[in-house]
Amino acid sequence: MSTQNDRIAWFLGGDVICRVQPRQLRPYRLVLLGPPGVGKGTQAELLGHHLGACHLSTGDAFRAAGAVDPCHRSPAILAAQEAMMRGELVSDDQVIAMVRERIPCLSCSGGFLLDGFPRTTVQARALDAMLEEQQVTLDTAIAYEMPIDEIVARLSGRRTCADCKAVYHVTACPPNEEGVCDLCNGRLVQRADDQPDAIRVRMHAYQENTRPLTDYYAGSGRLISISALGPPTEILERTLQGIAAHTANCPSVTPETL
Ligand code: AMP
Repeated sequence: MSTQNDRIAWFLGGDVICRVQPRQLRPYRLVLLGPPGVGKGTQAELLGHHLGACHLSTGDAFRAAGAVDPCHRSPAILAAQEAMMRGELVSDDQVIAMVRERIPCLSCSGGFLLDGFPRTTVQARALDAMLEEQQVTLDTAIAYEMPIDEIVARLSGRRTCADCKAVYHVTACPPNEEGVCDLCNGRLVQRADDQPDAIRVRMHAYQENTRPLTDYYAGSGRLISISALGPPTEILERTLQGIAAHTANCPSVTPETL
């Protein structure tokens, strides 16, 4: 699996074969951590392009599975979707089972960028066990960090089209006409969970859950913390430098050589 990948093996799991040949010599196996609104998805795409590794998001896999004929959904996916429909986090057992159904993606010689998994230390331990089973190792977990006030400003400015779900931002990406979707003329609304008070509650919950996870990776010397402030290219450069410093045996990973 590598760049330009349609991630079919990750989305469908089971014995689906990925046909894209990895293009790089050295696979990068990374976990990306960071709260909603921090720009993790953008960094995952940029890193995927630079490192040739596939962006594997558990949230994307669950969403993609929603489009699959129910008869072809695996038991792990069906159970997870019920939890998602109730607006809950999927249980550790169900997420781990879903990732296990896609275990070839973890040992892919193209590497991987895991996004949204692990979310708990139970999941992190299960990931380590699956990697050990596959005889591959995680290079590092990258934690994107941003002051909570900045995250609140970002998320509270977000507006979503009530009809086509296109996403805008009141200052960073405004529509041509205030409150109206450029694409379908639908009404732009603010999601209830994007109200500042709700965001602060979500962020505190996130921090409580992720602290043990960052401690887990820091404790085994596998954590890199990166400031997520600034333009995406600057954050990417910081990330690549962090990876290069962390994987000192691999001098090829610098912004200049990528
Ligand atoms: P995300 O796109 O990462 O925000 O995930 C969307 C939804 O998928 C979450 O709200 C959860 O219901 C579910 N999900 C994805 N990954 C996990 C995970 N590692 N643990 C529990 N639930 C997850």
